[in-house]
Amino acid sequence: MKVADYLLKITPYEGGKPIEELQRELGLVDVIKLASNENPLGPSKKVIETICKIAVNVNLYPDGNAYYLTQKLAKHLGVSDKNLIFGNGSDEIIELLYKAFATNQNDEILYCYPTFIEYRIIGMAFNKKIIELPLKDFAYDIDNLIEHINENTRIIFINTPNNPTGTLTGLDDILKIINKASKDTLIVIDEAYYEYAKPSTHYKELLDLYKKENVIILRTFSKAYALAGLRIGYGIANEFIIQTLNRVRPPFNVNIVAQAAAIAALDDKEHLKKSIQTNEEGKQFLYEQFNKLNLFYVPTFANFILFSTPIDASIVYENLLKEGVIVRSMKPYGYNNFLRVTVGTQKENEIFIQKLKKVLHV
Ligand SMILES: *Cc1c(COP(=O)(O)O)cnc(C)c1O
Repeated sequence: MKVADYLLKITPYEGGKPIEELQRELGLVDVIKLASNENPLGPSKKVIETICKIAVNVNLYPDGNAYYLTQKLAKHLGVSDKNLIFGNGSDEIIELLYKAFATNQNDEILYCYPTFIEYRIIGMAFNKKIIELPLKDFAYDIDNLIEHINENTRIIFINTPNNPTGTLTGLDDILKIINKASKDTLIVIDEAYYEYAKPSTHYKELLDLYKKENVIILRTFSKAYALAGLRIGYGIANEFIIQTLNRVRPPFNVNIVAQAAAIAALDDKEHLKKSIQTNEEGKQFLYEQFNKLNLFYVPTFANFILFSTPIDASIVYENLLKEGVIVRSMKPYGYNNFLRVTVGTQKENEIFIQKLKKVLHV
């Protein structure tokens, strides 16, 4: 089989190690995973009940237009149903954006890096020219980004809070980018961690950017809403962008269980509140512990913390695995002295710190 050279250059996405895999490989029983920014509380009870009820309907195709979920979310956000698109995870929407809007040979994709690595992987699959600029103090470097905008820039990805550093890009900086870019450049604001960062952002003004001609906001049910395994995310944009994306969207991309579960998740405001509160408390606990251990970390607006290790991070990573603790290696991002840990439950955070101390011999 002949395969295009540009595809052979892709390194497939490597997610956090699944719990069962580590149990299988090392014969461990007690394993905690703080590697993929999942909600450590699990899904809401209302979601679980809903999933059980919808199970009898899985012989049916889902509603390809996700009618009830669209109505529900539109009301929740205060936007029109015509401003929403759902994807099989917001990952899928990123792919749809490339498919719909980066269709010219010379198109360039622009963002700061390290950031969400899917922008790169999907861009490479579409054989796009990708411009990755370094972060500055672990955050998007807006001045440099703006300097690199040109007539070929087709998509700009702004990930705020930025995965894996947890830093925010503020409204003013986003506006600077929008003002510099042409109307044919799509500005993607990826707010996968929106619910955690909300109190620290101009969230109303930021949401209003969806009305612009060339902006889409991406959010997901995978993180704070605790539905990562069901794969459902959404985009908010003007009607023309949504219509264009619908032209290239597979017909039944969001499954029937995910649609029902997302409605239930939106209804359970208590669970969301508790999730955000658990994250706040866990963050403070981990900050204190990192301070005590004299470990550098980047203050986060999300549910994960990037921290540095005094010895080779891959050794710390491997030794934590042997102790039944899965965190995220930052090697693929070129951060060889850093690890990323997801904020867990208090119990998980304590185990993580205890095992980290053991591995670091402190
Ligand atoms: C987790 C994450 C997503 C994707 O989430 P889905 O599960 O595909 O909805 C998108 N962007 C960033 C920055 C993420 O961290």
